[in-house]
Amino acid sequence: LSAMAQRVPVSDVAGGSKRMSRVRVAVRLRPYMVKQDEKEEGACVKGLGPQNLEIINWRNSTETLQYQFDVFYGEQTTQQEVFLTSVKPILPHLLNGQNASVFAYGPTGAGKTHTMLGSQEQPGVIPRAVREVFQLVRAQETEGDDWDYTIGMSYLEIYNEKVLDLLSPSTQDLPIREDKDRNILIPGLTHTRLSSFSEFHTHFIPASLNRTTASTKLNHRSSRSHAIVLIKVVKSQRVAPHRQQTGKLYLVDLAGSEDNRRTGNQGLRLKESGAINLSLFTLSKVVDSLNAGVGRVPYRDSKLTRLLQDSLGGSAHSVMITNIAPEYKYYFDTFTALNFASKSKLIVNRPFVRETVSSTEPGKRTRQEKGCEATAEPQ
Ligand code: ADP
Ligand code: MG
Repeated sequence: LSAMAQRVPVSDVAGGSKRMSRVRVAVRLRPYMVKQDEKEEGACVKGLGPQNLEIINWRNSTETLQYQFDVFYGEQTTQQEVFLTSVKPILPHLLNGQNASVFAYGPTGAGKTHTMLGSQEQPGVIPRAVREVFQLVRAQETEGDDWDYTIGMSYLEIYNEKVLDLLSPSTQDLPIREDKDRNILIPGLTHTRLSSFSEFHTHFIPASLNRTTASTKLNHRSSRSHAIVLIKVVKSQRVAPHRQQTGKLYLVDLAGSEDNRRTGNQGLRLKESGAINLSLFTLSKVVDSLNAGVGRVPYRDSKLTRLLQDSLGGSAHSVMITNIAPEYKYYFDTFTALNFASKSKLIVNRPFVRETVSSTEPGKRTRQEKGCEATAEPQ
């Protein structure tokens, strides 16, 4: 694995004030789920440790492809662990006027909504992050500094390259603007002040149900649009010079990354498919150029990246959680998602070992690399 271990992100070694921050990349594999009428084929992907996984090579089944990420979450990983390790550490920056973003990427059915929203029993990143932001603000308030804090939320959707307000539903496409300080804003977007965590639920749940209802009527819209929660922390100095700072947090459940053209989704209009592909494709280019630390970052090429411009890269703190599923029917979508998440992979000459019960215990596994030829394949 030495080829991968030597990969040092450019932004970590380059100095200078224009240094762009990397996007942390996590991959989360959901548990194997088999439906009653399906035959059980086993998993085509499995974890190798806290940063690595392997997938069978479809070109040659005597080989596996191994990938490395900032973090790999195996199927046993709890919602709490994902939150604590990937999201909680970036939240204190919001109280210092810095921005942050968390994305869930991956094919439909791989666990994006589970990761971001979760369920009542297993709440995901969104409710946990909002709760934590309230706790951080309360802690500051009891410390009694010179600042007043307010927390507010917006909830929007990008569908067909249109920006739609989910708190006051309408079909109006809202404009995205940039002010003189390079802050991105959406004039006309509902922004609701929240005085407690329970108020978040009051506003968010009905709006999110709206979206789900629409989805069954409108061709599974939830898998074709990007759902975006915005949490804003505004800090105002009580005494002169009455400075104000705003920290923004974007929590994004992205559209499904599956190739809609290939899967022959019949009801899918070409325009819709093109819009999804444009924004996810642009997002991948943005993440690539941020993580390579070179070149122009093409934020303006899609609505999604334009909206996130001040909260992705630069001084912002961003994490992308790529969700994948272990079943064979997801193989090509998983493969594409992994190549999106990691720019390098190793081809290892050993057969993929199928296990009904996978041993994902980190560190316990011994690598059988002896006599194997390992090569890094550039993307
Ligand atoms: P997506 O939003 O990417 O289309 P979902 O979040 O709806 O996918 O997940 C598909 C199904 O898999 C749901 O029934 C969900 O509850 C389940 N699921 C996803 N991830 C996990 C996980 N880590 N643990 C248990 N169940 C999961
Ligand atoms: Mg979903």
